[in-house]
Amino acid sequence: MNIVLFNNDLRISDHQPLTEAARAGEVLPVYVFEPSQWKETPLSARHFQFVVESLEELSQSIEEKGGKLLVAIDELETVLGKLLDTYDSINLFAHNDNRLKDKVGGWAKQNQQLLFSFGSDLENISVKLFNNRLNSYLKEPIAEVPNRIDVPSKIPDFLFADFKKLNNFRVKGSKIRFGQQGGEMKAIETLDSFLEGRFTNYIENQQKPLPSSLSSSRLSAYITWGNISVRTIYQKTDEKLQACELEEDKIQLAEFLSKLTARVNICSMKIEHQQLGDVREIKREWNEEWFQRWLQGRTGIPIIDAAMRSLDKTGWMNFSLRAMVTSFFANTLLLDEQKLSAALAELYLDYEPAVHDFYIQQQSGMKGKMKIIDPVKIGRQLDPDGTFIRRYIPELSKLPDGYIHEPWLYPAFYQLGYEAPMVDVKKAYKNARLQHQAIEKKGKSGRKKEEGQTEQLSFDI
Ligand SMILES: Cc1cc2nc3c(=O)[nH]c(=O)nc-3n(C[C@H](O)[C@H](O)[C@H](O)COP(=O)(O)OP(=O)(O)OC[C@H]3O[C@@H](n4cnc5c(N)ncnc54)[C@H](O)[C@@H]3O)c2cc1C
Repeated sequence: MNIVLFNNDLRISDHQPLTEAARAGEVLPVYVFEPSQWKETPLSARHFQFVVESLEELSQSIEEKGGKLLVAIDELETVLGKLLDTYDSINLFAHNDNRLKDKVGGWAKQNQQLLFSFGSDLENISVKLFNNRLNSYLKEPIAEVPNRIDVPSKIPDFLFADFKKLNNFRVKGSKIRFGQQGGEMKAIETLDSFLEGRFTNYIENQQKPLPSSLSSSRLSAYITWGNISVRTIYQKTDEKLQACELEEDKIQLAEFLSKLTARVNICSMKIEHQQLGDVREIKREWNEEWFQRWLQGRTGIPIIDAAMRSLDKTGWMNFSLRAMVTSFFANTLLLDEQKLSAALAELYLDYEPAVHDFYIQQQSGMKGKMKIIDPVKIGRQLDPDGTFIRRYIPELSKLPDGYIHEPWLYPAFYQLGYEAPMVDVKKAYKNARLQHQAIEKKGKSGRKKEEGQTEQLSFDI
């Protein structure tokens, strides 16, 4: 029996495993919800909601081709074992992503079943080879959608096609009402609207909290869950880029493509969880109250609270806001970045472990360079007139512009109903700087530079 294992590739277009399996004969397309995966990783109710929406659409698309998408709730190895019991021999077709590679690869070998895996093989290779392989992968023709998907006559009872059965699957966290909806159609619509015009201010608006939510592509969640392939995005964008008449438009799209390939690059790297150099010597203490206030957008520091409240509501933030809330937590408040990482991952709809871990490490200084931010100053840079702050913090909606980044200076502050700042921003900033400077000084006078440590701490004063 030909089994297609869906994972982070919830689409019918450019899905080579499905195309090849359909060519080989009858196909059983399967998606497995593994209780352990949803319990032990930061995956949360909002991710679950997105996956279910994606599966509902995928199920319909497969049905239109004559097939049937089936779902299982169990550990992957158990599901594969039951499938083998049913069919005596199975051929597995899947994209070679991390989850499937580790589990399915091992299982197939042990049970002497065939695994056909597809996708670009970009891990652990030289930069030159990486670029060559990525280039040819991105330019390869898109896999054709099968004309027909033939359902096998025998389907084991533990698989189901009725999504209502998922209502009993318990997942941590809460759903979002205003986030992006999962599914291939939404992914295509999002790409099309970007290429039709949203992209024209891509670079200029990149850092601005509200404008970037319109002029950046907003494709990240669709890429993470595979509602659209990177190759499809690349080819459609490249086609548009070639057709652009204005040099300015070409520059915007080229920048967008460089972000897209940066993602592929990061996903193919091996991320090591180790702290480098000076950051290890920083004294970190845990403060649960600070953590909760930061998470709930109640720090009393407007730009931080607006960012965290917007993330809670929409599941998305632009790069600068992600960097800011991380850096404030880990480098200014000097709190433990592990807990921060898990809490943010639960909230980002586009949570991709490789990319997320890479930037959490980068922004919290574990890669050598460390930025201590003054959130008031950053707030003024990112949201000068406070439009973003007013959108997400209704308590401050009527506050005069001059006070929007430091509402505690407003004479009638206590009538606003907004929290007083949980820390004295200037003092916290100064304390963090002093700690870093002391460590840096010690490093300069005594310690030799450690292997792998190439960058000095840098201060954003
Ligand atoms: C602390 C931190 C955590 C992050 N966690 C994630 C994550 O879990 N998942 C994720 O997709 N991105 C993550 N990013 C990168 C970036 O912020 C998002 O990819 C981007 O904001 C998504 O919005 P967009 O789709 O409109 O991006 P666009 O600017 O339109 O970019 C197009 C695509 O390129 C990729 N991309 C964009 N910027 C980057 C970048 N700097 N590095 C790598 N790839 C990029 C994304 O897939 C994105 O969809 C993180 C950044 C930081 C600082």
